[in-house]
Amino acid sequence: LINFPYNHVLVLGLAKSGTAAAELLLDSGVQLRINDLKAKMDDPAVAELTRKGAEVITGGHPIEALDNIDLLVKNPGIPYENVLVAEAETRGIPIITEVELAGRLHEGNLIAVTGSNGKTTTTTLIYEMIAAAHQPAAIAGNIGKVACEVARNTGEEETMVVELSSFQLLGTLTFKPNIAVWLNLFEAHLDYHHTLDNYHQAKAKIAKYQEEEDFLVYNADDEKISKFLPDIQSKLVPFSIHRKVDGAWVDNNWVYFKDEPIIKRNEIVLVGEHNLSNILAAVAAVKLSGIKNEAVSKVLTRFTGVPHRLQFIEKKLDRYIYNDSKATNILATSYALKSFQQPVVLLAGGLDRGNTFDDLLPFLSSVKGMVVFGETADLLSETGGKAGIPQIKKVETMEEAVKEAFSMSNPEDVILLSPACASWDQYRTFEERGNMFIDAVHKL
Ligand code: ADP
Repeated sequence: LINFPYNHVLVLGLAKSGTAAAELLLDSGVQLRINDLKAKMDDPAVAELTRKGAEVITGGHPIEALDNIDLLVKNPGIPYENVLVAEAETRGIPIITEVELAGRLHEGNLIAVTGSNGKTTTTTLIYEMIAAAHQPAAIAGNIGKVACEVARNTGEEETMVVELSSFQLLGTLTFKPNIAVWLNLFEAHLDYHHTLDNYHQAKAKIAKYQEEEDFLVYNADDEKISKFLPDIQSKLVPFSIHRKVDGAWVDNNWVYFKDEPIIKRNEIVLVGEHNLSNILAAVAAVKLSGIKNEAVSKVLTRFTGVPHRLQFIEKKLDRYIYNDSKATNILATSYALKSFQQPVVLLAGGLDRGNTFDDLLPFLSSVKGMVVFGETADLLSETGGKAGIPQIKKVETMEEAVKEAFSMSNPEDVILLSPACASWDQYRTFEERGNMFIDAVHKL
């Protein structure tokens, strides 16, 4: 750990990120205390940490756990209202998340991506483009491992590409990516951050500690981001899907970086305007890293999407099949529907959160058929009825849903799973739901 002045550290909350942070700190010779409400002393991971010298406290959050502590590493999910976190704030003990440790550990180029939506997609694109140029790279975040674990295994010559949530960014003190990427800013996570301003400030931390030699790649189409720009020290590199900017932009035929054409739009496999925005962000980030256009093209002509995010599966019986199981709300499904010009058969439904689906109405004009399932099946078929969709069918299983979708569709149509609901009424996760959809398509 570079410039690490702390000797007595408390790790609060184990899980994946806490365990990785604890291991790193123990290996760095720091005196370590761990507090986790639910962990059991005989868990193999806990036993191993104890054997390595950590003092582990479970079953509660006693205030004494803070005695002699000079740094608190908290799991990003733990709120600042937690008794220990609140007391640490009162005592002036710095509070960080493990990503701060990763920043102090990693010596190579660091690219960090944040935003309300599109993080995993953009992070993956950047990583794939660097890898396609045969340069050493590692990915951390939702896909891949916890940042500080990745940082431990990367050298000076390696680029680390990391996806960061607002929860992680709040716990940084010095975290300074060479290239920060700020995708967009929607209303989100107000239960955690309380006010929109707090949430925006947390996101802005992606660039807060950057210096003149660093870059901030930002979405010039998102007005909410622009109010933070005057305070930023790093070089500003905009991207826009609507106009020419001094960064990444598009006209009807080409993607450009500044004045250089990079790839023809019709060669790009990913669909959707929102993904075009993610692509421009990734292009800007890798062009700033010196990656050749050939590597960018190689990825964009093949990349079918991150699994379960408007992912192209295959052309089957002349239908284009897309899996967007991650679309667990109306906004995500509306983005998916906006992505297609041709007729769509939509598979939707899932956990009932008590909302109606009327907000989907403006996006249903290209939908020729709907297959609905789960707790919200009836609500969705009502909405489909209001939109005048000619064929609506309620089913029980994914296999039935896929069969119905094929019989409602014609060659060249799109069959889209984009449920607009969480999956927990019928499936363990959205991944399980997406995989069952893919299996059912393959089996047909
Ligand atoms: P995140 O990691 O931020 O959750 P993902 O890349 O996993 O983002 O995408 C999740 C969903 O968010 C997508 O299925 C899509 O509905 C939506 N999305 C992705 N990129 C964008 C974007 N640039 N703007 C708005 N919505 C987006």
